[in-house]
Parts: sequence; C-alpha cells; structure tokens
Amino acid sequence: MALHLVNRKSHKSESVFDTYAQPVSEEAIPKYKMGDQPNDPKVVKDLILDELLLDGNAKQNLATFCQTYLDDETHIIMDKCIDKNMIDKDEYPQTAEIENRCVHILADLWNSPQSSTTIGCSTTGSSEAAMLGGLALKWKWREKRRKAGKSTDKPNIITGPVQICWHKFARYFDVEIREIPMEHDRLLMTPEEVIKRIDENTIGVVPTFGVTFTLQYEDVKAISDALDKYEEENGLDIPIHVDAASGGFLAPFIQKDIVWDFRLPRVKSINASGHKFGLSPLGVGWVVWREKSDLPEELIFNVNYLGGNLPTFALNFSRPGGQIVAQYYNLIRHGKEGYARIQQACLEHGIFIAEEVKKLGLFELLYDGKSAIPGAAWMLKKDIDPGFSLYDLSDRMRMRGWQIASYSLPVNAQDMVIQRVLIRHGFSHDMAQLMIDDLKRCIDYFKEHPVTKKGCQELSGGFNHS
Ligand SMILES: *Cc1c(COP(=O)(O)O)cnc(C)c1O
Repeated sequence: MALHLVNRKSHKSESVFDTYAQPVSEEAIPKYKMGDQPNDPKVVKDLILDELLLDGNAKQNLATFCQTYLDDETHIIMDKCIDKNMIDKDEYPQTAEIENRCVHILADLWNSPQSSTTIGCSTTGSSEAAMLGGLALKWKWREKRRKAGKSTDKPNIITGPVQICWHKFARYFDVEIREIPMEHDRLLMTPEEVIKRIDENTIGVVPTFGVTFTLQYEDVKAISDALDKYEEENGLDIPIHVDAASGGFLAPFIQKDIVWDFRLPRVKSINASGHKFGLSPLGVGWVVWREKSDLPEELIFNVNYLGGNLPTFALNFSRPGGQIVAQYYNLIRHGKEGYARIQQACLEHGIFIAEEVKKLGLFELLYDGKSAIPGAAWMLKKDIDPGFSLYDLSDRMRMRGWQIASYSLPVNAQDMVIQRVLIRHGFSHDMAQLMIDDLKRCIDYFKEHPVTKKGCQELSGGFNHS
C-alpha cells in the first residue's frame, strides 16, 4: 500500500502505469456509489471489460433468438451512426429515408398489396412492435363499436401460447388476453380453439409465426380461413396481426410455400425482430400494416419542434439510428439469395443436431428442426431415469460454455420439461458437432455420477425467453 502511494505522488499522471498497477485496479472500482475522483479512461474500460468476461460467450448461447454474429462492416456502421438520433428526421433525413426503405422492402417481402405506399416503422424490437400492432387493433375495434353505438369497455385479444410481450400489451393497455392453453397433444393455436373464444369484443387474433417455446409456426392460413367462415356465418370481421418475430425473416427466403402474410387479406399487420433472423445488431424490430388505412390516424403524432413536421408512431422517442442503417446494410448486402443461404445453413445445422440427439436414445424430439425456426427441441423419454434431469444437463453443458435452455412449457403442459437450441448466423457444422460431442460427454459423466431420481426435473425452475 505504502509503495504505490509514494509512486502516486511522484508522478503527475497515473496513466504512465499499467492497467493493473493503478489504484482503481489494486483496490476496488466503485460499485454502488460514484467515486469523487476521475480515473484513467483506458484503465476503467479494461476493468469493466474484464468483469464482462464473466458473462457467457454470446456465440455459444443457444438459448437466445437474438443475433450474436456481426461482421466488421456492421461494426463500422454502428460506430459511424452512434450520434444519429433516428427520431430527429429533420436533422438526419437520410436515416429517416433508410428506415422508410426498410419498411417498404419488408412490406414487399411480406406481399403487401400496396408495398410502396403502405405504412410501418422501426421499433426497438418485436415487443414494441407488438404494442403498436395491438394498439392499432384496439383503436380500429373501438372506432367500429362507437359507430355502431355499442360499448367499448371490454376488449379482448386471442392468442396461442405467446411471448411475454402480448401479456404486457394486454395488461398495459387494458385488454383481456384469451390465451389458448397448450395441451399435451396440442402445443399450438388451432382454428377450433380460436373460434371458441371469439365474441363481439375481440379486437383481433394473434398467431405466432415462430413460437418461442417450441420453434414451430402456427398455421396462419388455417386460422384466417376459419375466420372467413366465421364472418360469413356471424357477420363479425376479426382482423389478424401476425407475430412473426422470427418467421418474418425466415419464411420469405426458405419457406416460400407457406402462406402466412399479407397474401391473406385478413392479415392487417405483421411484426418481426430485425435483431433476430433479420441479422441486425440488438435493438431493432419492425411493424408493417397491410395498407395505410389499417393504421388509425389518431395514433400518429405530429411533432414540429425538431424543425419540419414529423409524424411519429412509437412508444419511444430518442433512439439510435445505427440499428436501422445496419438493417438496411444487411438487406442490401445479402439480398434474397444471401438470406436464403444463411437461413438454410442454420436450418440444416438444427436438423443435424435433432438427428444426433435422437440417436442418443434418451430423448424424444419435440421439434425436428425441419419446418420452421432453425433449431431443435427435445424432452427426456418418459419412464426412463438416465441419472440426470434436463436442468442438470444444461448446467453441465455450461461448463464448456454452452448455454442451452431447459424449461417447463406453459399451461396446461407445465409438466413437460423441454430442452431447446436455436441456431443462428455465425454457427457452423463444426460447432454443431462440438456441441453434440460435449452433450455425449456430459451424458456419460452422469452415467458414472447420477444426480437424480426420476421426477426431480419437475421441481426445478423455469427459463427466461428472449
Ligand atoms: C422474441 C420474440 C418477441 C419479443 O421480441 P423482442 O425483439 O425481443 O422485443 C415477441 N414475440 C416472439 C414470438 C418472439 O420470438
């Protein structure tokens, strides 16, 4: 202690010392209260980045849907755009123009009949996009009810097993959520289950095109057809918003035959996450309306104090422009063929993992990786005790850096515990093989050192979905 105090006094600047021979690194960096004195920026940066080494390795995180591989060009774009506020459309008109181009490119990819004139916007992700899509449904429904002189105090929305953002929408904006529960033999929304829940206060139906829990697509066309028939019989016209957080950037390239988008006239709006299979860095999502008239004008605010008259529809105001520009970069850089190649490669790696997992003999596949989101999901076979639960297996895989989600399904399938991997851009066949090798090693370890008796897995906790 005394020694460095002497040194400290004898030099004008601490920056002549090594990062690890500085008071902040020799003692402790302030945690919950600000220190009084400034510190050398390089040293502080190094120390903070050191701490962050304890976070998982993003590429080995097979639990997240979000992008973890970003090329050098994206880093340059993000750096150059760090000072651009996307809301300031007068100051940064070209950023605004680029946002607009992305909206029209997506409207076209999703087969909007008016892709060049329709309306949409970027968001911070699918969650904000879902709020905006849900609000538009609520406003449209209310307008219709008011015109008919009917009550507007009990709106409801029908969903399958949804991502948490729809529960947020329902609670924050006072809409009853009629979530179709999972059953052991039915993990997705079906037309019959939707029709059962409809009434005159239903503001819309939200199929998920890429379900968080199982990676499968809900059948938007079957639901739309059922709603057509329902309208013929009952006169109620119920719109659809598709939560295509993942599928919106997959199906247009690798599952072109699936009819899920604006080709169905009942689909009025779609959201997708640019930072998932859109290949862009964290912090960007999109919502697009079928036609301009599907977004109620009262939801658009006009702001004049940044200069010019700026229409805005968003929950946020100031936000970085880099993610939007990076999204445009990706759309242009990869083109349809590039996206198709990347997503197809991911799909193949997911199928490979599913096949290898099946060969191990202990697991039953819940999703074989073939038809929807790149990845795979499996459960332990019933009536066997391999000496571990899926939670134990996830824990042990973590020792080699792999983050693999194990969780119980939502109501009424809470007793089903599953394990799921997601495959994203930046993953290779070799990595898939390394992961499988480690999985086998972990299973062998548990053979020697069993940790459970059957039934233990039901006691463990859930998992956070992102
Ligand atoms: C990820 C996800 C969301 C939330 O999206 P963010 O981009 O993380 O805000 C909503 N719905 C589904 C189906 C998702 O997969």
